[in-house]
Amino acid sequence: QTLNDFLDLKGNIRVFCRMRPFLDDERYYELRSIISSDLCSVLLKISETKCKKYNFDRIFHSQSTQDEVFSEIEPVIKSALDGYNVCIFAYGQTGTGKTFTMEGKQDSPGIVPRGIEALFRQALESNLEYMFTFSMLEIYMGRLRDLLVPRNRNTRGHNAPCLSIQTDPSGDVEIENLIAMKVSDFNQVERLYKLGTQLRSTASTMSNSTSSRSHCLTRISITCVGVNSRRRETSKIWMVDLGGSERLLKTQASGRRLQEGKAINLSLSALGDVISALQSKKQHVPYRNSKLTQVLRDSLGTDSKTLMLVHVSPKEEDLCETICSLGFATRVR
Ligand code: ADP
Ligand code: MG
Repeated sequence: QTLNDFLDLKGNIRVFCRMRPFLDDERYYELRSIISSDLCSVLLKISETKCKKYNFDRIFHSQSTQDEVFSEIEPVIKSALDGYNVCIFAYGQTGTGKTFTMEGKQDSPGIVPRGIEALFRQALESNLEYMFTFSMLEIYMGRLRDLLVPRNRNTRGHNAPCLSIQTDPSGDVEIENLIAMKVSDFNQVERLYKLGTQLRSTASTMSNSTSSRSHCLTRISITCVGVNSRRRETSKIWMVDLGGSERLLKTQASGRRLQEGKAINLSLSALGDVISALQSKKQHVPYRNSKLTQVLRDSLGTDSKTLMLVHVSPKEEDLCETICSLGFATRVR
C-alpha cells in the first residue's frame, strides 16, 4: 500500500513527528532523553513516574535519515503532478530541526531540494508535458515579502515592499506581483532557492530579528500543457518552514520581540484552526484569520494533500514546549 492509497483512504491530512537528536554540545544530556517512540507513537516522560502517549501517522526517531523522511514524502510530491495541491509544513519550537528537515545541509539535503529533484524526475518519466514555476516568500509580522527580489538600500528589512493577496470568486489565490520564475531543471531551482534562503537570513539580520520569527514558503506551480487531461490545469506544492512555535513569556520579551512572538503564535493557531476544521469536516473553515492561511487557502482543503511534520526536542528543559507541540499535533490529526 502506498502512501497515496493511504491518503485517499483515510483523508488528506497526515501528521508525522520528527525527534531531533542530541547535538554535539548537548551530549551531557544524552542519558536523559524525555522522548521515546515506536513506529506510530511517541512516549513523553512528563515526570519521574508519568508518561504520556501521542499517536501519529508516522514517527521519525532521532536517528532517522533525510532519506527515510523523504521516502514518505515522495508519493505526495507525485500527487501534485496528478493535479492535487500539496502543502508540507515543518512545525516546532526553534532549534528542533524544521530548517534541517526542509532545507537540510549541503551533504544531507532536505525535503525542498529532494522534492523538486523528484518532481522533475517524475515529470520526465510521465508521458505528459509540464511547465513549472518557482516562487519563494516570507511572512513576517503579517506581511508578505518576496524572497526572490533582491533588497536594495531603500527596501531592506521591514521596508521591503509587501505583497497583497487576491482571492478570485472560484477561490483561487493570487499573490499580486509575486515572482514566479519559469524553471525547467533542478539546477535552475537550486540557484534560486539558494538566493531565497540567503535573502531570508540577511534580511532577518538587518532587521535585528531571526528567521525563527517568520514563515518561509516555497512554491512550485505545475501546469500540465498536455491535451485533454482530466486534471485541473494548475496545481502547486507549498513547502513551508514555519516560524518557531515557542511561547514567549511576557516578562522575557518586550517591544518588537513580543510583537513578533504574538504574530507567529496567532498565525500558527490560525493554521491549527483551519486544519482541525478541515479534519472534522466543518462547514466553515476560518481561512481569513491570518495571512498564512489566506495564502494557502486554495491548497488546504478537500482537493489537497497536507503533511504536517511536528518537530520535538529530546531535552528535559524543553518539556513544556514539547507538550505544546504534541498538543498541536493532536489537535490537527
Ligand atoms: P529550527 O529550524 O527548527 O530552528 P534547525 O533546523 O536550525 O532548527 O536545527 C537546529 C540544529 O539542530 C541545527 O544545527 C541542525 O543542523 C541540527 N539538527 C536538527 N535536526 C537534526 C537531525 N535530525 N539530525 C542532525 N542534526 C539535526
Ligand atoms: Mg529554522
